[in-house]
Amino acid sequence: MHLSELSDYIGSLLEISRFRDYSPNGVQVEGRTEVRRIATGVTASQRLLEAATAWGADAILVHHGYFWRNEEQTVTGIKKRRLAHLLEHDVSLLAYHLPLDAHPELGNNAQLAKRLGLLPQGTFGEQDIAWQGELQRPQTLGKFAEHITNTLQRTPLIIGDKERNLCRIAWCSGGAQSYFEQAIALGVDAFLTGEISEQNVHVAEETGVAFIAAGHHATERYGVQALGEHLVQQFKIEHRFFDMDNPV
Ligand SMILES: [Zn+2]
Repeated sequence: MHLSELSDYIGSLLEISRFRDYSPNGVQVEGRTEVRRIATGVTASQRLLEAATAWGADAILVHHGYFWRNEEQTVTGIKKRRLAHLLEHDVSLLAYHLPLDAHPELGNNAQLAKRLGLLPQGTFGEQDIAWQGELQRPQTLGKFAEHITNTLQRTPLIIGDKERNLCRIAWCSGGAQSYFEQAIALGVDAFLTGEISEQNVHVAEETGVAFIAAGHHATERYGVQALGEHLVQQFKIEHRFFDMDNPV
């Protein structure tokens, strides 16, 4: 398929124009016109670019691309090497940030809910990115932590009483630790996100609301995969997800 057809399709599927984002959504680096093989990954690191081009990708689709709002504007150092690799291989980079967190089926939060057994009941936070709902089966914080470990293949960092029973929960993939107090105001028993900050520990202890840091990478590896699988069903393309290990 044509690169423009691909980017138009994803743009309307994820409703990219609805979001005020920190980086451009869509084609960030233009490569060859014809796209047959799409590689997906969480972050457009050099490691991902090399694995994707070795596989023969025509386009690379990620959640974390380039050109962030506060990024250095010059093309030097690692940015030069990354862009040079894409341009030398004539491979496109497409990135979808907030639209890929938010999509009600393919998004990171929806996919995370599906895997962890969370029933969505509404959204909150900046641009309604974060979700709230209930656990399909209420269970103790300790049991839920084991379930996360088994499902995401990563041990979460948990702040809270392991014996506490969890029923209502709020969640947001990635680095959404600043939404913790908004989640507490909703009356949830726990908040789950990727990363944790020092002050979240005190807030968790003093409110009794559990904080679950399940990994930025680990909570954001499902949206881009779901999008890749969706594209395979719609178009004659090949897709492969590259899970480049990241402990954070
Ligand atoms: Zn992220």
